[in-house]
Amino acid sequence: MAAETLKIKGMHCASCAAIIEKALIKTEGVRSAEVNFGTETAKVDFDSAKTSAKELSKKIEPLGYSFYVSTAEEMGMTEEEHAAHLGLSQSKDEKLRELAEMKKKISIAIPLSVVSIFSMSWEILSSFDILPGLPLLLSELLRYTIPVIAAYMLVVVGRPYLKGVYRFIRYGNANMDTLIGIGTSVAFLYSVIVTVFAETLSRFIDVSSTYYDVTIVVVAFITLGKYLEARSKIKTGDAIEKLLNLQAKTALVKRDGKEIEIPADQVRIGDLIIVKPAGRIPVDGVLVEGSSFVDESMVTGEPIPVEKKRGDSVVAGTMNTSGSFIFQAAKVGSETLLSHIIKMVEEAQGSKAPIQALADKISSVFVPVVLVISFLALALWLLIGSSILGFSSALSLGLVSFVGILVIACPCALGLATPTAIIVGVGKGAKEGILVKDAATLEKFYKVDTVVMDKTGTITKGRPELAGMKNFSKESDEKITSILASLENKSEHPISRAIVEYAREKNIKIEDVINFEIIKGKGVRGKIGKDEYFAGNSKLMEDLKLSFDKKSMEENTKKGKTPVILASAKGVIGVFMVEDSLKPEAAEAIRKLHNLGIKTIMLTGDDRNTAFYIASQVGIDEVFAEVLPEDKQNKIKELQEKNHIVAMAGDGVNDAPSLAQADVGIAMATGTDVAIESAGITLLHGDISKLVKAVHLSRITMRGIKQNLFWAFIYNIVGIPLAGGIFYPIFGWTISPIFAGLAMAFSSVSVVSNSLRLKAIKL
Ligand code: ADP
Ligand code: MG
Repeated sequence: MAAETLKIKGMHCASCAAIIEKALIKTEGVRSAEVNFGTETAKVDFDSAKTSAKELSKKIEPLGYSFYVSTAEEMGMTEEEHAAHLGLSQSKDEKLRELAEMKKKISIAIPLSVVSIFSMSWEILSSFDILPGLPLLLSELLRYTIPVIAAYMLVVVGRPYLKGVYRFIRYGNANMDTLIGIGTSVAFLYSVIVTVFAETLSRFIDVSSTYYDVTIVVVAFITLGKYLEARSKIKTGDAIEKLLNLQAKTALVKRDGKEIEIPADQVRIGDLIIVKPAGRIPVDGVLVEGSSFVDESMVTGEPIPVEKKRGDSVVAGTMNTSGSFIFQAAKVGSETLLSHIIKMVEEAQGSKAPIQALADKISSVFVPVVLVISFLALALWLLIGSSILGFSSALSLGLVSFVGILVIACPCALGLATPTAIIVGVGKGAKEGILVKDAATLEKFYKVDTVVMDKTGTITKGRPELAGMKNFSKESDEKITSILASLENKSEHPISRAIVEYAREKNIKIEDVINFEIIKGKGVRGKIGKDEYFAGNSKLMEDLKLSFDKKSMEENTKKGKTPVILASAKGVIGVFMVEDSLKPEAAEAIRKLHNLGIKTIMLTGDDRNTAFYIASQVGIDEVFAEVLPEDKQNKIKELQEKNHIVAMAGDGVNDAPSLAQADVGIAMATGTDVAIESAGITLLHGDISKLVKAVHLSRITMRGIKQNLFWAFIYNIVGIPLAGGIFYPIFGWTISPIFAGLAMAFSSVSVVSNSLRLKAIKL
């Protein structure tokens, strides 16, 4: 099986998506297909033994679409390699070329439609005696040129719509182009017939009214609307382009003692790379020589340049400021943080939000339903209208309704409503160091009412330090510290790091440990020589049935320090206190979450007193302390069973199960590890004030989607009956197909502009 995301060429509207989806699913070997109009991509899950992207493209070609696959396959590359090969911006170039072509079309279409509008308005005004009739020469000229202009608009500018009609006749697939095509060609053909057979027909109908102007203006407006829409759509996706532009083109590497400049994609792991002042960092790595401040804002959203010394990691795409340094490449090519971010953003932008399902469902049945309605309207006008108004008036009103409904009903705006807002929202997040996995996550996050937070690394810095000890044994302080440090040296826990670092600083001996074991959520055990030792929390001591003076720790735990109790099988040897400082932004971020109506809960395996103290410092609502790792997940389940929509924020290392259990998992990424699978949202730079921004982001985006859906629906809901002439018997209202065309164009443009507006909102 292969799951591929393929770019589609030739999509015009949301109903195209449904048509392509249907055609793909019908194909043998395809298990599932999901087509997104906003990003013009198809996610296809297919059996690669039975079919290929190229074959699939052939399946949709008769329908007027194709996949951008042939080049990649012909070059023997996977789609990804090919995209990398092209530098991805290629598709944007193509888009720009397409846009230029559309521009050429409208630069002819608009002046022509102005001529038509001019002659039409003059005619109307003169029929009311407001203006004198047109000079004879001019009116004769227009009489012959208007039909020619209409023919040109229909056949040349309106070619995509005629193709839609052809597809409808040939394959029975209708999309919004079909609607426009039928509407404008019916108006044109009717007018031609009336013009040619004027003499014969004049006995039955009013031959003075023709609808060339409808064809001209509708095609012009719709094309203009599509142009504006395409132009804005390019802008909605520029976040990716900006990220791609962060990639350095070249790298200055040290090879065989010489400095040489090579393309950035040729850097190998282990290469030593020289970064000059104001240089861009080409790959991820670790600084080995020199020091500087690096501006990481483009990747993490962190505005202040970060100091980098020996041993610190640097990431591709960030900018060196004034110093210079050498670093060793650790991650290159598609493995860098920046590449991961780009991939994540692309995937998220192409994913479908559940809220879109409704719009998709509607647009898939929309076109046939509208076709039926428009024919019904025509029939009703002829049947009922002609007995009241006479056949001639009924026919012209019926025709106007028929064309008007077809033109105004296009579900185009409906198809754009969700994806454009998602694209903008996801891109906006990426700029701030908020990486969203998919659209569904953003929609879920919008509904979150409870945020559960891990203590270490989320609320506190996650870099604890040793802050004191009590020795209960006859051994020296140094000796017992050595025992503890030796044990902790085998563990990766933040507590262990604190103790080992302290021992190293004080030159305290770290000895070999055998039979080492981690006791999850409690501590560690191991043997030094023949003697077995334990280090951990009071739970571990209870398990060992070792009694000790718990009270003696309280004055420390109540001030937020974490106790590490060192014991042998015989008894407690000493108690060490480690202290982790609060993140400076934590208290304010939690206050802001409360202001947004979100409840905050701290979830930790740490000592109860310690946890309560820290929670009170930052204003957390509720605390679950001394929770074993496996129970963390259950705590979240309990909250969900009480109908809370829960987000869990953790450092991702041992929190993976609870991140996965939560409705939305939020990983606080530090350094270069963004690929946290179980997280729906990743906050770069581990800054919890970003969590607040992420809430804003989800609210802004979802609000944008809802507004878009409203605007898309309202045009159709109001427009169809109005165009059908429902109000004619009561108020004498109908709308000209010309206004229907204008409204149609405006609805798509307003939806896309509303999405673009989201870009400007501050998080
Ligand atoms: P959390 O990440 O919420 O702090 P953990 O499950 O990682 O939870 O740890 C829970 C508790 O277990 C810690 O607060 C500490 O008391 C004890 N503990 C875990 N690992 C160690 C260790 N290596 N050394 C000492 N104590 C430990
Ligand atoms: Mg932890």
